[in-house]
Amino acid sequence: MQINDTQLKQVDTQIKRLLAADNFYGKRLREAGITGVSSVEDFQALPFSEKQDLRDAYPLGLSAVPQSEIVRIHSSSGTTGTPVIIPYTQKDVDDWAIQFARCYEYAGVTPEDRVQITPGYGLWTAGIGFQAGCELLGAMAIPMGPGNTEKQLQFMIDMESTVLTATASYALLLAEEIEKRGIKDQIKLKKLITGSERSGEKIRQRIIDALGVEYYDIYGLTEVYGPGIGISCQHSHGMHVWSDYVFLEIIDPETGEVLPDGEWGEIVLTTLVKEGAPLIRFRTHDLSRIIPGDCACGHNEHPRIDTITGRSDDMMKIHGVNVFPAQIEEILATFPECSSEYQIRLSHLDGRDTMRIYVETNGSVDWEDLRRRVARRVKHKIGFTPLVKIVELGMLPRSEKKTKRVYDERYE
Ligand code: ZN
Repeated sequence: MQINDTQLKQVDTQIKRLLAADNFYGKRLREAGITGVSSVEDFQALPFSEKQDLRDAYPLGLSAVPQSEIVRIHSSSGTTGTPVIIPYTQKDVDDWAIQFARCYEYAGVTPEDRVQITPGYGLWTAGIGFQAGCELLGAMAIPMGPGNTEKQLQFMIDMESTVLTATASYALLLAEEIEKRGIKDQIKLKKLITGSERSGEKIRQRIIDALGVEYYDIYGLTEVYGPGIGISCQHSHGMHVWSDYVFLEIIDPETGEVLPDGEWGEIVLTTLVKEGAPLIRFRTHDLSRIIPGDCACGHNEHPRIDTITGRSDDMMKIHGVNVFPAQIEEILATFPECSSEYQIRLSHLDGRDTMRIYVETNGSVDWEDLRRRVARRVKHKIGFTPLVKIVELGMLPRSEKKTKRVYDERYE
């Protein structure tokens, strides 16, 4: 999807504002000799920006307005190093709420709904974004914040919450607790809106089954307003991204080349009307693709990105094909006889790159047959044949934290 004339004019206006403000981006554009954009080629020649650039601008170097116009800041939740500070003007705060209200509308939420908000409040953009959009839509916000499962369930029952907003893991925890206590008949939930972490198909289905809800994925990141710049609709797992607020590109994470619709790569975002901290070609490192073709909901002015499959840092290149662990995980999830655990090992054998996939199953399955079927499906879906090794259930290592699943032994 190429940048259209309206978007191009908006970027041009942003560039002129940044140059005039002489802020972090303004200086960078001036040094690159950029004065504006009037064509697709001009746009694609604009330099990318990275999270590290935003860190370098700490604390308020990203601001493109006088300090008196900043009404709020948010900060992204980096675990190490200098945080990123994003300043918002009143218009930015309002625009974010408009986008978020649109997300709720796409999910079919109405003023009759009661929205239980469990993402955190504070420096993060999570809770407050869910709340502002809810209030603008006219639904009833129940601003719980995270944790305290006892109280969450009590309010869910007593306040008759119809919409739950949560990370996938927290939704799963609540769903399992509801099952365990046998209180499903007291729960009025109809919809779940989730975001901020990738969830596999198995977890998604587990939550849908346990809660009996419609499941919506929201997209966004603190650097670009926050969650709410896009959401899945009733017809697709893909998420529509609001083309009147952000311009979306997918690039090859290695070469920076812009990829055609349908190809997997890294999401790059440019804000179109942001005042406090406009971003130009910001590399998110989130991996997805633009879903080609029309959506059944008819909102084709807002392009759809596919489920985020991971981070570009996780990408593996094998036989010239870009592969992400999540793609393998998704394929394995279609085999009910495999457990959720797997391991990928890349090695260099006889001058060729080889991928070995270890999967677990129990003794009641024909291992040789399973091995062949997994290999065939990977070949069919991704384009190369891996070596599949079947192991006994419980053989692969478990970890309470993040389990390491990919080992690249090619360059050891
Ligand atoms: Zn749609």
